[in-house]
Amino acid sequence: MAPGTAGIRIPGSSGGVRPLRLLGDPVLRTACAPVTVFDGELLRLVEDMFATMYAEGGVGLAANQIGVPLRVFVYDCPDDEDVRHLGSIVNPVLTEVDGVVVTGEEGCLSVPGVRAGTPRFDRAVVEGLDLTGRPLRIEGTGFFARCLQHEAGHLDGGLFLDHLTGLRRRRALRATRRRGLTFADPVSG
Ligand SMILES: [Zn+2]
Repeated sequence: MAPGTAGIRIPGSSGGVRPLRLLGDPVLRTACAPVTVFDGELLRLVEDMFATMYAEGGVGLAANQIGVPLRVFVYDCPDDEDVRHLGSIVNPVLTEVDGVVVTGEEGCLSVPGVRAGTPRFDRAVVEGLDLTGRPLRIEGTGFFARCLQHEAGHLDGGLFLDHLTGLRRRRALRATRRRGLTFADPVSG
């Protein structure tokens, strides 16, 4: 798209880049609270999330990754057919997962420099609300389904590292330690 196209709003263009919270920060292990007020503050938060996601080169970002423990995530993510999916969702619930479980390379802006083959369902549906409070349903397959499961997990205090087992897990946790990051299991309850 040509720059300066009238009327086209580019997500994040009015937002500010906020510092990322990294592995070891308790906010990443916190189950986030539902959004109850749909106002300008929510729009600003989402703008800042887009700006931060783009600045960091991510394909998805959950609000607690910038230290805001609210149930919101944004994404700009291709699927396996190279179709681009761009948007945000408030109070998302992963309502359906099915298809085969695919182990694919996954990383996280909050766990910089660490990537691991992570098992995820090949299809996922997330239901929640848009930024005005209207119902919203997002369906994804392939890499985008992986993104939806990854971001929904963040809002419950989850991390992709939680889905690793065996050698992959040991290797990934060793890599986090080498980078000075502290892994802890999610806080239950
Ligand atoms: Zn992440």
